[in-house]
Parts: sequence; structure tokens; C-alpha cells
Amino acid sequence: GKGTADTTIHKFSPEMDTLRISNNDIVANMAKALDDQEFILLYQPKINLSTGELVGAEALVRWMRHGKMIPPDKFIPLFERNGFIKHLDYYVLDKACAFVATHPDAPKISVNLSGVTIMQSGFDRRILNIIDQHGIAHSQIDLEITETAFVEQFEESLGRIQNLRSKGITISMDDFGAGISSLSRLKNMPIDILKIDRAFIVDSIGNPRGGHIIKCVVQMAQKLNMETVAEGIETRAQEEFLHNLCCDVGQGYYFNRPLPENEFIKLLNQ
Ligand code: C2E
Ligand code: CA
Ligand code: CA
Ligand code: CA
Repeated sequence: GKGTADTTIHKFSPEMDTLRISNNDIVANMAKALDDQEFILLYQPKINLSTGELVGAEALVRWMRHGKMIPPDKFIPLFERNGFIKHLDYYVLDKACAFVATHPDAPKISVNLSGVTIMQSGFDRRILNIIDQHGIAHSQIDLEITETAFVEQFEESLGRIQNLRSKGITISMDDFGAGISSLSRLKNMPIDILKIDRAFIVDSIGNPRGGHIIKCVVQMAQKLNMETVAEGIETRAQEEFLHNLCCDVGQGYYFNRPLPENEFIKLLNQ
């Protein structure tokens, strides 16, 4: 009955019903939803492909409304158009830092930042403030920025990203290979980690040409002193293939789905 819907949230599972909601309703409710803690974080483990160790996790946001889930594809593009995304990105960072601060065995957590967020002057100070408020080591946080967002940035934004790196925060270039960045620009980019786009991983088995491309990307990253992460690994064959190509880290349904906090904690305690 009335008022009981919210109590079902603890039964949350990532596979649960998705809520049908119009764009107008999303915009009308977003600010209050942030105050009311309707946005929650899932954590998807990142696995060292040589040792099988859990070496990190990516925070992925979900909007829980009336016991149902709204997937990010439904609201993030909208928030990028209306500018609200920066509030959500800082919120997710704050929650991820709170998690690290209260879980001594937490690995490095990766937080996604939209191109809109990093365009703001002073975004680097804001990020450092949030992390420092929780008193955690800067090296506990990684920031994922898409290749496309990187390409759209001005020199000043790249300088602010470099400032964050100089403070010990690592930067991942997300969805690498899906955008239009030229390889020559990569040498001057302030990044530590290349996340190879899932499209290449899907293609890696059974398409020799796709495999060749991954191999070259991994070798190039090694020469540029960058770590490589393969996203969207779904099968053992893909995992073995990427390991054989010396890709450092894997993430995907083959290892784990994005997990609610309590399940992620259980995994850490194993
Ligand atoms: P992304 O950053 O590229 O995140 C990876 C997406 O791939 C996630 O989708 C994840 O659940 C999914 N994924 C992981 N492993 C597999 C796999 O093996 N197979 C397949 N098919 N998919 C896999 P999700 O969680 O729906 O997020 C979608 C996108 O929403 C993210 O793509 C990211 O661009 C954006 N996003 C999510 N959380 C945030 C956030 O806090 N801030 C910002 N700015 N964007 C976010
Ligand atoms: Ca990401
Ligand atoms: Ca990605
Ligand atoms: Ca993506």
C-alpha cells in the first residue's frame, strides 16, 4: 500500500524491473532525487589478468525510484544536455570516497566524469576538496574520462587534469578506440590508463583483424607507460585472448556484474 514502496529497495538486484519514465519527469525530479539519495552506486570489479586479483572497481550509477531502477542510458545523456550531470558526478565521487574511507580493504575506485563536468573551471579544486574531506589517499581514486570528452577539451581543462594527476589521482581514458582522437595526440594526453572500448573486445575472437588492433593498442600503451584495461569481457575465451596479448586488467560480466555495495563488500571479505 501507500508508503511501503521504498522499503523494498534493500531487495535491490541489478536485474530488477526498470521504471518507464518520461524525459519531462526525469528533469522535474532530478534535483529532489539527488537530495533524497535515489541515486545509488554499483561497483564492478577490475581484475588483474595475470594474477586474478581484484585490483579496483568502477562506480556505476543507478537511479532507484519507487523500488524500480532507471538505467544510466536513460538519464545521463539528458543530464549532459541540461548541465545537471556535474552535480551527479560530484555526488558519485563523494559516495565513492565515503566508501573507501569506511572500508580499509577497499581497492582503488574509478569514478566516471562527463566531458561537461571537466569543462567547468575549478573542477579540479572541487574534486580535490571532495577527496580530502574524506581524508583518503589520492591514489585510492581513479577518474574515467571518455576519449570523446578528451578530444573536446581545451588546453586549460587538460592542465586541470594534469594538476589532479600531479596530486596522485590516476586518469583513465574510457572507451578508447570508439572516438575520433588521433594517435598522435595520445602522446601528450595526461593519462595513466587506457580502457579499450568494449566493441573491440566483442570483436576480438573470430575476427583476426579486431585482434590485431587490440594487440597494437596494448603494445603502444606499454611503450607510452600506460596501463591497459579491457572492458566488457564476457567469456573465458576473451579473457584468455586478452591475457595472452599482455593486457593488464579486465572488467566484465565474465568476472562480475556491477554489484550493489553489500555484495561488493562480501566479495572483498572473501
Ligand atoms: P561506461 O563508463 O563505458 O561503463 C561500462 C558499461 O558497460 C556499464 O554500463 C557496465 O554495466 C557495462 N558492462 C560492464 N561489463 C559488461 C559486459 O561484460 N558486457 C556488457 N554488455 N556490458 C558490460 P552502465 O552501468 O549501464 O553504464 C552506462 C554508461 O553510463 C557508462 O558507460 C558511463 O558512460 C555512464 N555512467 C554510469 N555511471 C556514471 C556516472 O556516475 N557519471 C557519468 N558521467 N557517467 C556514468
Ligand atoms: Ca567508465
Ligand atoms: Ca567504457
Ligand atoms: Ca561507454
